[in-house]
Amino acid sequence: MPDPVLALDLGGTKIRGALVHGAGSPDAAPRLEGLAESPTPAADGPEAILAAVAALAERIGVGTRVRAMGLSSAGVIDSGGGRVTHATASLTGWAGTDVRSPLAERFGVPVSVLGDVHAHGLGEARFGTGRHHSSLLLVAVGTGIGGCHVLDGRTVLGARGAAGHVGHVPVPEAEGVPCPCGRIGHLEGLASGPGIVQLARRLGAHGSVRDGPSLAAAAAAGPGPAREAYRIAGLATGRMIGGLLNVLDPEVVALTGGVTEVGGHWREAVSRGIALEAMDVVADTPVLTATAGGHAALLGAAARALDVLST
Ligand SMILES: [Zn+2]
Repeated sequence: MPDPVLALDLGGTKIRGALVHGAGSPDAAPRLEGLAESPTPAADGPEAILAAVAALAERIGVGTRVRAMGLSSAGVIDSGGGRVTHATASLTGWAGTDVRSPLAERFGVPVSVLGDVHAHGLGEARFGTGRHHSSLLLVAVGTGIGGCHVLDGRTVLGARGAAGHVGHVPVPEAEGVPCPCGRIGHLEGLASGPGIVQLARRLGAHGSVRDGPSLAAAAAAGPGPAREAYRIAGLATGRMIGGLLNVLDPEVVALTGGVTEVGGHWREAVSRGIALEAMDVVADTPVLTATAGGHAALLGAAARALDVLST
Protein backbone atom coordinates (compact mmCIF):
# COMPACT_ATOMS: atom_id res chain seq x y z
CA MET A 1 0.00 0.00 0.00
CA PRO A 2 1.38 3.47 -0.84
CA ASP A 3 2.48 5.72 2.00
CA PRO A 4 -0.23 8.07 3.32
CA VAL A 5 -0.43 11.83 2.97
CA LEU A 6 -0.18 13.96 6.09
CA ALA A 7 -3.05 16.43 5.85
CA LEU A 8 -3.50 19.51 8.03
CA ASP A 9 -6.32 22.01 8.30
CA LEU A 10 -5.43 25.35 9.88
CA GLY A 11 -8.33 27.46 11.11
CA GLY A 12 -8.65 30.55 13.26
CA THR A 13 -9.17 28.60 16.49
CA LYS A 14 -7.71 25.15 15.91
CA ILE A 15 -5.42 23.08 13.74
CA ARG A 16 -6.50 19.58 12.80
CA GLY A 17 -4.53 16.90 11.11
CA ALA A 18 -4.45 13.23 10.17
CA LEU A 19 -2.73 10.69 8.01
CA VAL A 20 -4.91 10.12 4.97
CA HIS A 21 -4.77 6.75 3.24
CA GLY A 22 -6.27 6.24 -0.20
CA ALA A 23 -6.85 9.90 -1.12
CA GLY A 24 -5.78 9.11 -4.67
CA SER A 25 -8.37 6.42 -5.28
CA PRO A 26 -11.73 7.49 -6.68
CA ASP A 27 -13.30 4.10 -5.93
CA ALA A 28 -12.94 3.73 -2.18
CA ALA A 29 -13.45 6.16 0.66
CA PRO A 30 -10.15 7.44 2.05
CA ARG A 31 -9.22 6.43 5.58
CA LEU A 32 -8.06 8.84 8.30
CA GLU A 33 -5.54 7.68 10.88
CA GLY A 34 -4.22 9.46 13.96
CA LEU A 35 -6.66 12.34 13.80
CA ALA A 36 -5.52 15.04 16.23
CA GLU A 37 -5.92 18.72 16.87
CA SER A 38 -4.32 21.57 18.76
CA PRO A 39 -5.25 25.20 19.41
CA THR A 40 -4.13 27.85 16.92
CA PRO A 41 -1.93 30.49 18.57
CA ALA A 42 -3.80 32.98 16.39
CA ALA A 43 -2.59 36.16 18.09
CA ASP A 44 1.07 35.14 18.38
CA GLY A 45 2.18 35.76 14.80
CA PRO A 46 3.06 33.58 11.82
CA GLU A 47 6.16 31.94 13.29
CA ALA A 48 4.21 30.67 16.28
CA ILE A 49 1.38 29.48 14.05
CA LEU A 50 3.78 27.61 11.76
CA ALA A 51 5.53 26.11 14.78
CA ALA A 52 2.19 24.83 16.07
CA VAL A 53 1.38 23.35 12.65
CA ALA A 54 4.79 21.64 12.56
CA ALA A 55 4.41 20.31 16.11
CA LEU A 56 1.04 18.78 15.30
CA ALA A 57 2.44 17.29 12.08
CA GLU A 58 5.30 15.72 14.03
CA ARG A 59 2.90 14.27 16.58
CA ILE A 60 0.71 12.72 13.90
CA GLY A 61 3.48 11.56 11.61
CA VAL A 62 5.90 10.16 14.17
CA GLY A 63 7.29 6.84 12.96
CA THR A 64 5.36 6.95 9.69
CA ARG A 65 6.66 7.49 6.16
CA VAL A 66 4.49 9.98 4.34
CA ARG A 67 4.48 10.75 0.61
CA ALA A 68 3.59 14.40 0.95
CA MET A 69 1.97 17.00 3.16
CA GLY A 70 -1.21 18.81 2.20
CA LEU A 71 -2.19 21.94 4.13
CA SER A 72 -5.56 23.63 4.09
CA SER A 73 -5.28 27.14 5.49
CA ALA A 74 -7.45 30.08 6.37
CA GLY A 75 -6.78 33.11 4.18
CA VAL A 76 -6.33 33.62 0.46
CA ILE A 77 -3.55 31.35 -0.72
CA ASP A 78 -1.25 31.57 -3.71
CA SER A 79 -1.15 27.79 -4.15
CA GLY A 80 1.58 27.95 -6.80
CA GLY A 81 3.87 29.91 -4.48
CA GLY A 82 2.74 28.22 -1.24
CA ARG A 83 2.17 31.63 0.29
CA VAL A 84 -0.67 33.44 2.06
CA THR A 85 -1.61 36.59 0.14
CA HIS A 86 -4.52 37.91 2.23
CA ALA A 87 -5.92 37.03 5.64
CA THR A 88 -8.36 38.49 8.09
CA ALA A 89 -7.31 39.85 11.47
CA SER A 90 -8.27 36.52 13.07
CA LEU A 91 -4.73 35.28 12.33
CA THR A 92 -2.26 38.00 13.30
CA GLY A 93 0.33 38.71 10.60
CA TRP A 94 -0.71 35.70 8.52
CA ALA A 95 -0.89 37.61 5.22
CA GLY A 96 2.44 37.39 3.36
CA THR A 97 3.58 34.23 5.15
CA ASP A 98 5.48 31.62 3.16
CA VAL A 99 3.83 28.47 4.47
CA ARG A 100 5.29 25.87 2.17
CA SER A 101 9.07 26.39 2.37
CA PRO A 102 9.50 26.06 6.15
CA LEU A 103 7.36 22.91 6.29
CA ALA A 104 9.02 21.36 3.23
CA GLU A 105 12.49 22.03 4.65
CA ARG A 106 11.63 20.67 8.05
CA PHE A 107 9.90 17.49 6.90
CA GLY A 108 11.73 16.82 3.63
CA VAL A 109 8.58 15.98 1.67
CA PRO A 110 6.62 17.93 -0.97
CA VAL A 111 4.12 20.32 0.65
CA SER A 112 1.05 21.73 -1.09
CA VAL A 113 -1.18 24.50 0.26
CA LEU A 114 -4.80 25.32 -0.52
CA GLY A 115 -7.22 27.85 0.90
CA ASP A 116 -9.57 26.16 3.36
CA VAL A 117 -12.75 26.60 1.33
CA HIS A 118 -10.96 25.34 -1.79
CA ALA A 119 -9.75 22.29 0.14
CA HIS A 120 -13.26 21.70 1.48
CA GLY A 121 -14.70 21.97 -2.04
CA LEU A 122 -12.16 19.54 -3.48
CA GLY A 123 -12.86 17.05 -0.69
CA GLU A 124 -16.58 17.31 -1.30
CA ALA A 125 -16.13 16.97 -5.06
CA ARG A 126 -13.87 13.91 -4.86
CA PHE A 127 -15.37 12.07 -1.89
CA GLY A 128 -18.83 13.53 -1.25
CA THR A 129 -21.74 14.89 -3.27
CA GLY A 130 -19.59 15.53 -6.33
CA ARG A 131 -18.17 12.01 -6.58
CA HIS A 132 -19.95 10.95 -9.74
CA HIS A 133 -20.31 14.40 -11.25
CA SER A 134 -18.04 16.41 -13.54
CA SER A 135 -18.53 19.69 -11.68
CA LEU A 136 -19.67 20.91 -8.30
CA LEU A 137 -20.40 24.24 -6.65
CA LEU A 138 -19.90 24.08 -2.88
CA VAL A 139 -21.63 26.81 -0.86
CA ALA A 140 -20.64 27.06 2.82
CA VAL A 141 -22.83 29.20 5.07
CA GLY A 142 -21.59 29.55 8.63
CA THR A 143 -19.58 32.24 10.42
CA GLY A 144 -18.87 33.53 6.92
CA ILE A 145 -20.10 32.57 3.47
CA GLY A 146 -17.66 30.94 1.08
CA GLY A 147 -17.73 28.72 -1.93
CA CYS A 148 -15.72 26.62 -4.30
CA HIS A 149 -16.24 25.60 -7.90
CA VAL A 150 -14.67 22.29 -8.84
CA LEU A 151 -14.58 21.61 -12.56
CA ASP A 152 -13.40 18.31 -14.07
CA GLY A 153 -11.78 17.34 -10.78
CA ARG A 154 -9.84 20.60 -10.37
CA THR A 155 -10.55 23.39 -7.95
CA VAL A 156 -11.05 26.69 -9.74
CA LEU A 157 -8.60 28.88 -7.80
CA GLY A 158 -8.73 32.05 -9.88
CA ALA A 159 -5.83 34.20 -11.06
CA ARG A 160 -5.18 35.45 -7.52
CA GLY A 161 -6.37 32.45 -5.53
CA ALA A 162 -9.52 34.33 -4.61
CA ALA A 163 -12.13 32.52 -6.71
CA GLY A 164 -15.21 31.33 -4.86
CA HIS A 165 -15.91 34.30 -2.58
CA VAL A 166 -19.63 33.75 -3.08
CA GLY A 167 -20.49 35.72 0.06
CA HIS A 168 -19.19 38.88 -1.53
CA VAL A 169 -21.76 39.41 -4.23
CA PRO A 170 -24.44 42.09 -3.99
CA VAL A 171 -28.00 41.02 -3.24
CA PRO A 172 -30.99 43.38 -2.94
CA GLU A 173 -31.87 42.16 0.57
CA ALA A 174 -28.45 43.31 1.86
CA GLU A 175 -28.77 46.89 0.66
CA GLY A 176 -27.16 49.18 3.23
CA VAL A 177 -25.82 46.28 5.33
CA PRO A 178 -22.05 46.40 6.05
CA CYS A 179 -20.03 43.35 5.03
CA PRO A 180 -16.96 42.06 6.92
CA CYS A 181 -14.91 42.74 3.75
CA GLY A 182 -15.52 46.47 4.18
CA ARG A 183 -18.05 46.88 1.37
CA ILE A 184 -21.76 47.44 1.76
CA GLY A 185 -24.61 45.30 0.46
CA HIS A 186 -22.85 41.94 0.09
CA LEU A 187 -24.59 38.69 0.96
CA GLU A 188 -22.23 37.75 3.83
CA GLY A 189 -23.08 40.79 5.97
CA LEU A 190 -26.73 39.80 5.85
CA ALA A 191 -26.87 36.03 5.61
CA SER A 192 -23.89 34.53 7.46
CA GLY A 193 -24.67 33.11 10.91
CA PRO A 194 -23.72 36.35 12.74
CA GLY A 195 -25.44 38.35 9.97
CA ILE A 196 -28.73 36.53 10.51
CA VAL A 197 -28.57 37.11 14.28
CA GLN A 198 -28.09 40.84 13.68
CA LEU A 199 -30.89 40.85 11.11
CA ALA A 200 -33.24 39.21 13.62
CA ARG A 201 -32.31 41.86 16.17
CA ARG A 202 -33.03 44.63 13.65
CA LEU A 203 -36.41 42.98 13.05
CA GLY A 204 -37.16 43.13 16.78
CA ALA A 205 -35.98 39.78 18.13
CA HIS A 206 -35.64 39.43 21.89
CA GLY A 207 -32.30 40.36 23.46
CA SER A 208 -31.74 36.71 24.35
CA VAL A 209 -31.15 35.99 20.64
CA ARG A 210 -27.38 36.30 20.54
CA ASP A 211 -26.01 33.36 18.57
CA GLY A 212 -26.91 30.54 16.23
CA PRO A 213 -28.47 28.18 18.80
CA SER A 214 -30.63 30.88 20.44
CA LEU A 215 -31.70 32.14 17.01
CA ALA A 216 -32.62 28.63 15.88
CA ALA A 217 -34.57 28.07 19.10
CA ALA A 218 -36.50 31.32 18.65
CA ALA A 219 -37.32 30.42 15.04
CA ALA A 220 -38.50 26.96 16.06
CA ALA A 221 -40.79 28.45 18.72
CA GLY A 222 -43.04 30.11 16.14
CA PRO A 223 -43.50 32.99 13.71
CA GLY A 224 -41.59 36.15 14.56
CA PRO A 225 -38.38 38.06 13.86
CA ALA A 226 -36.08 35.03 14.08
CA ARG A 227 -38.05 33.05 11.54
CA GLU A 228 -38.36 36.11 9.32
CA ALA A 229 -34.59 36.64 9.48
CA TYR A 230 -33.97 33.07 8.29
CA ARG A 231 -36.48 33.61 5.50
CA ILE A 232 -34.86 36.83 4.25
CA ALA A 233 -31.32 35.43 4.58
CA GLY A 234 -32.32 32.20 2.84
CA LEU A 235 -33.96 34.10 0.00
CA ALA A 236 -30.84 36.22 -0.50
CA THR A 237 -28.59 33.13 -0.39
CA GLY A 238 -30.83 31.44 -2.96
CA ARG A 239 -30.62 34.48 -5.23
CA MET A 240 -26.84 34.27 -5.11
CA ILE A 241 -26.89 30.55 -5.91
CA GLY A 242 -29.40 31.08 -8.73
CA GLY A 243 -27.20 33.78 -10.24
CA LEU A 244 -24.17 31.51 -10.06
CA LEU A 245 -26.05 28.66 -11.71
CA ASN A 246 -26.55 31.01 -14.67
CA VAL A 247 -22.82 31.81 -14.78
CA LEU A 248 -21.16 28.48 -13.92
CA ASP A 249 -23.78 25.82 -14.74
CA PRO A 250 -22.38 23.27 -12.24
CA GLU A 251 -23.75 19.76 -12.47
CA VAL A 252 -24.65 19.81 -8.77
CA VAL A 253 -24.61 22.21 -5.80
CA ALA A 254 -23.65 21.12 -2.26
CA LEU A 255 -24.62 23.11 0.83
CA THR A 256 -22.57 22.95 4.01
CA GLY A 257 -21.99 24.96 7.21
CA GLY A 258 -23.82 25.62 10.45
CA VAL A 259 -26.62 27.72 8.96
CA THR A 260 -27.50 25.04 6.41
CA GLU A 261 -28.21 22.62 9.24
CA VAL A 262 -31.21 24.62 10.47
CA GLY A 263 -33.16 23.42 7.42
CA GLY A 264 -36.87 24.29 7.40
CA HIS A 265 -37.69 27.91 6.72
CA TRP A 266 -34.17 28.82 5.66
CA ARG A 267 -33.94 25.95 3.18
CA GLU A 268 -37.36 26.67 1.66
CA ALA A 269 -36.39 30.31 1.18
CA VAL A 270 -33.14 29.25 -0.52
CA SER A 271 -35.18 27.23 -3.02
CA ARG A 272 -37.46 30.22 -3.67
CA GLY A 273 -34.46 32.52 -4.17
CA ILE A 274 -32.91 30.09 -6.66
CA ALA A 275 -36.23 29.85 -8.53
CA LEU A 276 -36.38 33.67 -8.76
CA GLU A 277 -32.98 33.99 -10.40
CA ALA A 278 -32.04 30.77 -12.21
CA MET A 279 -32.74 30.64 -15.92
CA ASP A 280 -34.93 27.75 -17.07
CA VAL A 281 -31.99 25.80 -18.47
CA VAL A 282 -30.29 25.54 -15.06
CA ALA A 283 -33.34 25.80 -12.75
CA ASP A 284 -33.42 22.05 -12.06
CA THR A 285 -29.78 21.78 -10.93
CA PRO A 286 -29.76 19.50 -7.85
CA VAL A 287 -29.02 21.41 -4.63
CA LEU A 288 -27.98 18.86 -2.03
CA THR A 289 -26.58 18.65 1.47
CA ALA A 290 -22.83 18.04 1.51
CA THR A 291 -21.87 14.47 2.44
CA ALA A 292 -18.07 14.40 2.75
CA GLY A 293 -18.38 15.18 6.46
CA GLY A 294 -16.49 17.27 8.96
CA HIS A 295 -13.09 16.27 7.59
CA ALA A 296 -13.75 17.29 3.98
CA ALA A 297 -11.01 19.94 4.07
CA LEU A 298 -8.43 17.35 5.25
CA LEU A 299 -9.47 15.00 2.47
CA GLY A 300 -9.28 17.81 -0.07
CA ALA A 301 -5.85 18.90 1.17
CA ALA A 302 -4.63 15.29 0.84
CA ALA A 303 -6.11 14.94 -2.65
CA ARG A 304 -4.42 18.18 -3.71
CA ALA A 305 -1.07 16.98 -2.39
CA LEU A 306 -1.34 13.86 -4.57
CA ASP A 307 -2.45 15.91 -7.59
CA VAL A 308 0.63 18.09 -7.20
CA LEU A 309 2.88 15.02 -6.89
CA SER A 310 1.54 13.62 -10.13
CA THR A 311 2.02 16.78 -12.21
ZN1 LIG B 1 -18.16 41.51 1.24
